[in-house]
Amino acid sequence: MKDMQQIVSLAKRRGFIFQSSEIYGGLSSCWDYGPYGIELKRNLKNKWWQAMTFRSDIVGVDASIFMHPQVWKASGHVDGFNDPMVDCKACKSRFREDKIDTSAPCQNCGAEGEFTEPRDFNLMFKTKMGPVEDSSADVYLRPETAQGIFVNFLNVQSTMRKKLPFGIAQIGKAFRNEITPGNFIFRTREFEQMEMQYFVKPGEQMKAMEDWKELRWNWHISNGIRPENLRWHPHVGDELAHYADAAEDIEYKFPHGWDEMEGIHSRTDFDLRKHEEFSGKNLKYTDVQDGNKKYLPYVLETSVGCDRALLAILCDAFRIENEGDKENERTVMKFHPSLAPIKVAVLPLTKKLNEQATALFHDLQKEFKAEYDVAGSIGKRYRRQDEIGTPMCVTFDFDSLEDNAVTVRDRDTMNQERVAIDQLKNYLRDRIYI
Ligand code: ATP
Repeated sequence: MKDMQQIVSLAKRRGFIFQSSEIYGGLSSCWDYGPYGIELKRNLKNKWWQAMTFRSDIVGVDASIFMHPQVWKASGHVDGFNDPMVDCKACKSRFREDKIDTSAPCQNCGAEGEFTEPRDFNLMFKTKMGPVEDSSADVYLRPETAQGIFVNFLNVQSTMRKKLPFGIAQIGKAFRNEITPGNFIFRTREFEQMEMQYFVKPGEQMKAMEDWKELRWNWHISNGIRPENLRWHPHVGDELAHYADAAEDIEYKFPHGWDEMEGIHSRTDFDLRKHEEFSGKNLKYTDVQDGNKKYLPYVLETSVGCDRALLAILCDAFRIENEGDKENERTVMKFHPSLAPIKVAVLPLTKKLNEQATALFHDLQKEFKAEYDVAGSIGKRYRRQDEIGTPMCVTFDFDSLEDNAVTVRDRDTMNQERVAIDQLKNYLRDRIYI
């Protein structure tokens, strides 16, 4: 089993993810996406956006991060978005009580049975809006994107003339002052969420839940995640939020263990009802297909952390082949081609072929995120592209000048195939857009 350190180290070495503010010693639990990381992340977000909004019943929004403070009163976050916190009496380290065994020694200093009683810690970041430092200017950094969707429910429904069932999708930053962030980008204080709220007629939420469970599971599989590394975790008993009538998480087998990647929650009409109550506005939907009945729709939510899904993709793609065999060992990121940061690398055999190979590269670059590399032995260049996860490498050699063909090397099988240059784009399309 790969460990997280190997993944963190490859992510840094190859320009995927760097520690934030590294030259100042870093800022705990904050990470910056480097050039390959941002390509991977964009591809993932685009794939999610496409899966969600390239259908006639779901539209997108991009709400602001700051919202009226009453939003967080209504949603329950001001009063209830707490985690139980305990302090080690000996070293003063703080922990989330539900994530550690308080009868065991402190993970930090080893002191035994030395924890304070748990107390509630609110996870919202509070800041001031405007120059006047009075409490009326208190605002929060949103701890989830969902509320930006709920408060826009009627705006979207009426302007887009949507009938139930329909959904609203959003990708955006969220902030939580986590007590114990960690495991690389798994739990951070600033992260991105990809959330979709699907509004249905009350009574139809369980069918929607089943449909969305299947769609979301398949989406992760379509990203190349191996099914044996995914499982369902249904919320039962105390775990089920008081307003939800069903909830299940998709868990991934991370190096630190099985843990949540996405939540699929049936939230009833809780959020819209609370916003009606706190805003005093009527948020009811008029059902013209059912005798103009007025009611608050029920909501089925799918919520996935972009960074967590990306971490799962990094973990799943990471392979070391022929480990220990000096000659043949290779590290390869087996990204699904649709997600790979670079789709194709053009590698001329020698610098003497630069002119013709560059022309080919520029042509490919019009359609594919491509890279050109002429430095070092061809073997070294292949290895580098393997670690970036480039699905195909195109080698331009002296024969190419004669036969107008190139050698295409497949990342996963390492098979090489001669392909006519005028057929190359089609060849790549067939292997990338799958
Ligand atoms: P956890 O139990 O791990 O704290 P949660 O149940 O509070 O998560 P939700 O509120 O359901 O999480 O958020 C939806 C999704 O947002 C999660 O499934 C996860 O992918 C992502 N997410 C939540 N908190 C964080 C975080 N601190 N860092 C990165 N991603 C997060």
